Amino acid sequence: MSTTAPDSHAKNNGGKHRWGMVIDLDRCTACGACAVACAQENNAPFGSPTDSPETRVIRWMEVLRAAQDGNHNATVRMIPMPCQHCEHPPCTKVCPVYATYRNPEGLVPQIYYRCIGCRYCVNACPYTCKYFNWTEPEWPETSVRGLNPDVSIRHKGVTEKCNFCMHRLQRAKDDAAAEGRAIQDGDYRTACQQACPAKAITFGNLDDPSTQVARAAESPRTTHLLEDLGTEPKVYYLREGA
Ligand code: SF4
Repeated sequence: MSTTAPDSHAKNNGGKHRWGMVIDLDRCTACGACAVACAQENNAPFGSPTDSPETRVIRWMEVLRAAQDGNHNATVRMIPMPCQHCEHPPCTKVCPVYATYRNPEGLVPQIYYRCIGCRYCVNACPYTCKYFNWTEPEWPETSVRGLNPDVSIRHKGVTEKCNFCMHRLQRAKDDAAAEGRAIQDGDYRTACQQACPAKAITFGNLDDPSTQVARAAESPRTTHLLEDLGTEPKVYYLREGA
């Protein structure tokens, strides 16, 4: 993990959006509620014990363990890891069929019906945030009834990843339009943000300086993962104890 200056892009740009997330590692207790909420919201299959050793389990949000050595006193950090929704995403550049792209609001969606399963994007993502469906997804009978009708089921042979719960953005836009107003801070919330009991996750429009997420991104504790690669992630981490 490397440090970065507070977000220099933050500005009021006349109602446009650049969606991003701030994760406060000082608040995170590594409870895993974000990962569970994400899987439930986005119809991610549970995976099987045989999938796990082959790293074929699908986790759009994963709580990663990062150990840091220090004179026989190793420090272990837990890092919640969704897709970083990079400003310059390497995954989109290698897709031969335009099944993934950076949209005007800064999100990096995945178009499942276009995906041909070549897995170039899986290899191009330096954050290992992309997952390939090696098998047809399955759920126990009782869980099938709990699948989210707003989110597509991904079939065998396509790649998937976190999309910042984009279906919720559409709902927030529809609600705002029905009420004749612009979308406001807090209208569009991700499932992981909503589920976090420690309120470690902030999400919203990075380009509006009045939003909670833009203010959090200005913290001197701000850092990015693998910043030297020039991907410019829109997930900001706040370092512990600084
Ligand atoms: Fe693509 Fe990986 Fe960046 Fe997400 S984190 S936008 S999957 S390169």
